[in-house]
Amino acid sequence: MTQFEKLNEEKVFKDPVHRYIHVRERLIWDLIGTPEFQRLRRIRQLGTTFLTFHGAEHSRFGHSLGVYEIARRVIGIFKNRGDWDDGETMIALCAALLHDVGHGPFSHSFEKVFGTNHEQFTQAIILGDTEIHRLLEGAEGGLPEKVADVIGHTYKNRMVVSLISSQIDADRMDYLLRDAYFTGVSYGHFDMERIWRVMRPGDSQIVFKSSGMHAVEDYIMSRYQMYWQVYFHPVTRSAEVILTKILHRARILYQKGFQFKHVPVPLISLFEGHMTLRDYLRLDESVMMYYFQVWQDEADPILSDLCSRFMNRRLFKYVQLSKDSLSAGEELTEAFRAAGIDPEYYLEVDSSSDCPYDFYRPGKEEERLPIQLLMPDGSLHELSRESEVVRAITGKRRTDHKLYYPKDRVLALPDSTWKKKICGLLHI
Ligand code: CA
Repeated sequence: MTQFEKLNEEKVFKDPVHRYIHVRERLIWDLIGTPEFQRLRRIRQLGTTFLTFHGAEHSRFGHSLGVYEIARRVIGIFKNRGDWDDGETMIALCAALLHDVGHGPFSHSFEKVFGTNHEQFTQAIILGDTEIHRLLEGAEGGLPEKVADVIGHTYKNRMVVSLISSQIDADRMDYLLRDAYFTGVSYGHFDMERIWRVMRPGDSQIVFKSSGMHAVEDYIMSRYQMYWQVYFHPVTRSAEVILTKILHRARILYQKGFQFKHVPVPLISLFEGHMTLRDYLRLDESVMMYYFQVWQDEADPILSDLCSRFMNRRLFKYVQLSKDSLSAGEELTEAFRAAGIDPEYYLEVDSSSDCPYDFYRPGKEEERLPIQLLMPDGSLHELSRESEVVRAITGKRRTDHKLYYPKDRVLALPDSTWKKKICGLLHI
C-alpha cells in the first residue's frame, strides 16, 4: 500500500457549512492548488440562481471542498469501527474532491446549447494532460484511472462509489446544506451527523441502521423541498432560458460571419466545433459575464437585448401550461412571428422534468441504488417500505410546463389582431 506523504502541519479552510475543512495529505493540498481546481472558484454552484436568491453566489470550489470534507469524516467514522480498507482512502478523497472539476460556466445552459458534458470533462481532466493528472500519477501509478473509475461508477469497490455517488452521498449532503445556507431558505436542513453515525458498509453499497430512519426521512424531505423551492424556481429557470438564447444567438451570429465589436475569442473553437481541453479550461463565469456585459453594445438587436435582460435582470415572465394547453405554444409561435417578435429567441416552453435533478425514486433501473435500511434482525428493507413519509413522494414525478416570454415586449406591441390573440393566449 502506498504511503502518501503527510503535510508537516494540518491545513484548514474556514467553511460556513462544516466549520473547518481539514487537509492532512500533501496530495490533497497540491490538487486544491492546481489551476484546474482553482478555476472552480469562478463557477457558481447554482448557475443563475443568484438572480432569484441573491446569496447564492457560492462556488463549485467551496462545494468540492465540502464533499471532500464529508467523505473524510465518514471515512474517519468507518475506520474507527474497523469498517474501512485504508488502501481506499486516498482514492475516495481524491474522487470526492474532484467529482465536479469538469463543470463549465453555467453548465446546464452551456450543455444544452453546445452538447458538452461535464462528466466527460471531469474524466478528461483527471486522465488528460493536466496538472491534476500529473499530481495523481506522481503520487501513485494508476491512481488517475482509479479516481476516474469511482466518478464514472465503474470502480470495483462499491462502498467507495456509493460514498461519492448514491441516493445519500457526500455530494448531495453537501450541496443540500450549502445551497440552503447560501440561498437563506429555511428548508434544506437535516441532521447530517446523525446520518453519518447510522451509515454501515453493506455488500454492494452503504446501508443505514433503521434506528436512523427519521434522519434519513428528513434528508429526503429536504431534497424534495429544495428541488421545488430552489432548483426548479421559475425565476431561475427564466434566467436560464435567456442565457441559453444568448449562447445560441452568439453562435448563430458567429457562423453567419457577423462582425462582433467584441469578438468572443475564448468561444471560437467551441463555435467551430474543435474545442480542446485546454480551451475548455479557460472558460469560466467571469469570462462569460464579461461578454454578456459588452455584448449589450453589439449591433444585433437580439443579442444586445438578451444580454441587457440578463445583466439587468429584466427576465421573461411565464405562464403555467397544463397538458391540454401545450398546443397554445404552437399558436403563440405563429402569432409572435406575425407580430414581429422572433419566437426562436423570445418564446420557450420549459419543463422542469428535463432538469438534471431528480428526487427519490427507487426501482427505476437508470436511477441510483435505492436506500436500504438495516433492520435489527440483519435484513435489509428498502426505505419507502418502512417510511410512510417517503412513500408519499416516491415515484411521483411532478412535471410542470411553463411558457416563458417577454411580457414587456408583448405589452409594447401596437394594437393589432395579433396582439389581441397573443394577450388572449397568455391571459394578459
Ligand atoms: Ca457535486
